[in-house]
Amino acid sequence: MQQYLAALDQGTTSTRCILFDRSGHACTTAQQEIAQIFPRPGWVEQDPIELWTSSLAVLRQAMVQAGIRAEQLAGIGITNQRETTLVWERATGKPVYNAIVWQCRRTAERIDKLSPAEAQRIREKTGLVPDAYFSASKIEWILRNVPGAAEQAKNGDLLFGTVDCWLLWNLTGGSLHATDETNASRTMLFDIHRRRWDKDLLDLFGIPAAMLPQVLPSSHRYGVTDPALLGAAVPLSGVAGDQQAALFGQCCWQPGDAKNTYGTGCFLLMHTGDEAIDSRHGLLTTLAASDDSGGGYALEGSVFVAGAAIQWLRDKVRILESAGQSERYCSQCTDTGGVYLVPAFAGLGAPYWQPDARGMFVGLTGGSSRAALVRATVESMAYQVRDVLEAMRQDIGLPLQALRVDGGASANNFLLQFQADLLGVDLVRPACIETTALGAAYLAGLAVGFWASREELARIWQANHRFTCRMDPSTRAKRLEGWRRAVDCALYWARWENRSTAEQEVPHD
Ligand code: ADP
Repeated sequence: MQQYLAALDQGTTSTRCILFDRSGHACTTAQQEIAQIFPRPGWVEQDPIELWTSSLAVLRQAMVQAGIRAEQLAGIGITNQRETTLVWERATGKPVYNAIVWQCRRTAERIDKLSPAEAQRIREKTGLVPDAYFSASKIEWILRNVPGAAEQAKNGDLLFGTVDCWLLWNLTGGSLHATDETNASRTMLFDIHRRRWDKDLLDLFGIPAAMLPQVLPSSHRYGVTDPALLGAAVPLSGVAGDQQAALFGQCCWQPGDAKNTYGTGCFLLMHTGDEAIDSRHGLLTTLAASDDSGGGYALEGSVFVAGAAIQWLRDKVRILESAGQSERYCSQCTDTGGVYLVPAFAGLGAPYWQPDARGMFVGLTGGSSRAALVRATVESMAYQVRDVLEAMRQDIGLPLQALRVDGGASANNFLLQFQADLLGVDLVRPACIETTALGAAYLAGLAVGFWASREELARIWQANHRFTCRMDPSTRAKRLEGWRRAVDCALYWARWENRSTAEQEVPHD
């Protein structure tokens, strides 16, 4: 009877289940969309029951598609949208409020009110730059705004969990209240150095310790599913937040190993071994996936607007019919003719940190064609990724060996070649670009012996394509100089409000 490993991937827009065989091949995928609830501008919620029922549904659907029974599942690995916050009743399992999604900005003002000393403590203990994304202020909001919740929490009647924890609770019929270290590291309540919940931060946000789940390694035997759910008890043996799961699924286990996911935005993670590196560029320090013998750290940086700029060309500017078409335009010209796009639609993140910057095309001439504009947009993804990687390289002090890539836009060969050219290192695209799910499967499979060791995984992991730098150093230097000038223009735009009196004197006749 052939055995499989199920990866349950509960993401922001959909819930998916992928079944992997022993060779790491994805055999079948089942998927359901998740409804987004926007009660007010800037607020984002999801229905906790839908998160759970969609998870169970895709698990069952994947088993039907593959024609297998629960006994053929060697284990289940869970990976999830990080930071999204749920609170439910210990006795009934009933959520007291909707899931508050990571993107939700309702607690932004609360975070702004943190004193510099409080912000510093958060940074030192959690490795995070204080933000409304993380779970802490979301839990506080629920306790302050749901009638009776604070009292119930004080009495030990309420439980908090990120999505992984909520799914583990439901999959075990309410018998397990646990999360893994990677998810805990995104709550802004977890001391990543001591690897435990931090009393001081819990007090800062008024959160009773009794609400918090037990924190376990990412690759670990958590328990088994309630036999009534899938027809037999299946081991739950791997849990990791989506980005850390992808890092693991890309076999990035050594210091300096890095991956980038090219999606709507980009998520870059670099493994830093046993050292928690304090970034000098505003990057986040976070926990990499762990096992029973421990785990390391990672540096994390993101690019706000990557594939989203291609979507903008398609949906708003309307010079593209599909995202995939962008690659054809890129190859219609030999270069952009000096045109750059800085897609600072929502400000600039690492390493510039200028929220007031705005997007701009620069270097336009009467000869700038549609192809040049599309190419400049695709190239802007690579420039931004290079900036974040350069910041990471400076923080960690190690040269980058190779960059492993995934995500929807990694299908664009021009983009990846240009990225390799800019970085001067090889880019490797795996055969299975579902690396988030693959990472969850690897973690779960190692814990139950489905795969014997990381060495075995490194052997079965397959590359689809390697992109090698073809650009000469002088061309690269010229392109990078152009990009820096373009970024300067976007930064100058942001500085206008604070310009000096001399600068304000606009000459006129
Ligand atoms: P997410 O998981 O963030 O929703 P995906 O990984 O599915 O995103 O990637 C989708 C994004 O990638 C979209 O923003 C889309 O514009 C972009 N994209 C998809 N295919 C290409 C392509 N061939 N070239 C450039 N961008 C692409």
